[in-house]
Amino acid sequence: MPIQILPPQLANQIAAGEVVERPASVVKELVENCLDAGASRVDIEIEKGGAKLIRIRDNGCGIAKEQLELALARHATSKVTTLDDLEAIMSFGFRGEALASISSVARLTLTSKTEEQSEAWQAYAEGSQMAVKVIPAAHPVGTTIEVHDLFFNTPARRRFLKSDKTEFTHIDEWLKRMALVRSDIHFTLQHNGKMVRNYRPASNESQYIKRLGQVASNRFAEHAVAVDCEHDGMRLRGYLQSPTVPEPSLNMHYFYVNGRYVRDRLVNHAVRQAFGELSVELQPNYVLQFDLDPHQVDVNVHPAKHEVRFHQSRYVHDFILQALQSALSQLAEPIELDDDR
Ligand code: ADP
Ligand code: MG
Repeated sequence: MPIQILPPQLANQIAAGEVVERPASVVKELVENCLDAGASRVDIEIEKGGAKLIRIRDNGCGIAKEQLELALARHATSKVTTLDDLEAIMSFGFRGEALASISSVARLTLTSKTEEQSEAWQAYAEGSQMAVKVIPAAHPVGTTIEVHDLFFNTPARRRFLKSDKTEFTHIDEWLKRMALVRSDIHFTLQHNGKMVRNYRPASNESQYIKRLGQVASNRFAEHAVAVDCEHDGMRLRGYLQSPTVPEPSLNMHYFYVNGRYVRDRLVNHAVRQAFGELSVELQPNYVLQFDLDPHQVDVNVHPAKHEVRFHQSRYVHDFILQALQSALSQLAEPIELDDDR
């Protein structure tokens, strides 16, 4: 075959392969957009594990009528314009691919109203024919996105979906991670018409502990060791499981870099090392937020953005280790270890 440029529809579906793995990844992309749009409340409705419907409503800034079609186009973003922006990214989005990818493998409806507009508008796009229709609609300031029939035109993908319950669990798990870092946001989650989660915003530490109990476990929240350490433009805050109250079944290893959930070996290592000195062998639970100058970290490593690269990784590791050590050393009670551990 001669070399050809891929038709846009196919290019989007290929990109969707990386970004849209399952309903939970759609929820992730869409909710991140709500937060980038400055929403303070996000309502998530799921039907049949998300395979039938994912509906996400926010009270953010909305999308202007003449931008609706562009929002669905590939490589269209309002979040970066130059390489400099990319090197200091603070928003969740920057690739301008999520909506284009999702609409290439589902039926997507985008309804939105901005503060300046007197009425709302709705755009509709469907996988096979990327033509977008825009019609008047009713909606308060903000945006609602509905994703119907995910993977209806990519049967191989659709077959990979697990049971509704499993897919919903992935969504629920993802929301837990988000709810702990964005405790300023009111999130609700419904499944098949039933309210499953209602995370009210937390505006102070005791409300945060309450949310931590709701999301993790009350046991974790009651006994957790607070971490808060700042040095040279870096800050580590959060909660660490008490070494005396292990809860291995919780399996909560939440680490956020500038508000973004990431999995990082360096961090696991630092946590284990901090606990290791107390000769606690199990992997402790933690919810930790790490903030640093965005120039010091590269988030553009993988499309799902779960990985980051620190420019000075040794330095970061040592700071995290010291922050954890100092939090653990301030524990009021002496640590008693079981003999059989
Ligand atoms: P990215 O988030 O990488 O910019 P997306 O495809 O996710 O790319 O979204 C494209 C654009 O659509 C965004 O840059 C933003 O301007 C707009 N947009 C998407 N969702 C929302 C929303 N919920 N509220 C306001 N604007 C949105
Ligand atoms: Mg996005």
